[in-house]
Amino acid sequence: MTHNIITDDVDDHALVAPSLVRRVFTLIAILVPLAGMILAMALLWERGFAWVELALFLGMYVATGLGITVGFHRLFAHKSFSCGPVVTATLGILGSMAVEGPLLRWVSFHRCHHQHSDDEGDPHSPHGYGGGFWGSIKGFWNAHIGWMFKPAALRINKYTPDLQRSKLVRRISLLFPLWVLVSMLVPTVLGGVISLSWSGALFGFLWGGLVRIAFVHHVTWSVNSICHLWGTRPYQSNDLSRNNFIVGVLAFGEGWHNNHHGFPTSARHGLKWWQPDLSWTVIWILSKLGLVWNVRLPSAERLAARRRAS
Ligand SMILES: [Zn+2]
Ligand SMILES: [Zn+2]
Repeated sequence: MTHNIITDDVDDHALVAPSLVRRVFTLIAILVPLAGMILAMALLWERGFAWVELALFLGMYVATGLGITVGFHRLFAHKSFSCGPVVTATLGILGSMAVEGPLLRWVSFHRCHHQHSDDEGDPHSPHGYGGGFWGSIKGFWNAHIGWMFKPAALRINKYTPDLQRSKLVRRISLLFPLWVLVSMLVPTVLGGVISLSWSGALFGFLWGGLVRIAFVHHVTWSVNSICHLWGTRPYQSNDLSRNNFIVGVLAFGEGWHNNHHGFPTSARHGLKWWQPDLSWTVIWILSKLGLVWNVRLPSAERLAARRRAS
């Protein structure tokens, strides 16, 4: 019995261009939060900020950012640990609230990236755009944003048959527009209720909604762009992935991207004590609470075997 929910997959190698509707929605999802951020900066200059706005921004940033890193990436794309339906649903919904597309589509792109990393077929490699400064800038742009508007060999059924066997995961993915709405409503309602004012609701929407989405977007996309261009490469991997400290901090551990390509199924990306990895800390705490199990980590032998001679 098939559980596939996507019916527009075509033959295995053809590139498929995103539809006009998809491109328009993608553009709106990128530009509206950016416009919100510019507006928020201008207003910050005028009126300063309230602590409740900062708290809503940080709270929503951490919650939806972890939804992407612990949920979409380490749980759904790489199966680096196991968990029950409540944790699965929580992480799936929080990841969807980051407004980076439906779960199954996100995972398909990411698994495709690992399969073809920095080679032909990689949906968002910054390489192959010529050498020198302009080649890097062009590559950066493509890996950061440009790829979302280009044809790709994306096969959602090919890349996610395991996830599509779960009714819960299929539902969360299909209900993506609802999670986007929730993602906007939560900070708006909280801002209004905490400050007991309409302007509080509006600023909750601005900081906890739009500004936070813009930050989560660009930090996530920095893993695709910056972490395949600039940083160190301590481990052997079939690509040009890099470890970048700043992205490591901002993206809750995902910036240790060379470590990740070296050991894709590892639940821990910051493999050294000095490599901050908030996502791993969360997974570790959840495992101590008995909420996640089968946590996958590379053995000392595998770590040593993959280490590049320096
Ligand atoms: Zn990568
Ligand atoms: Zn990955």
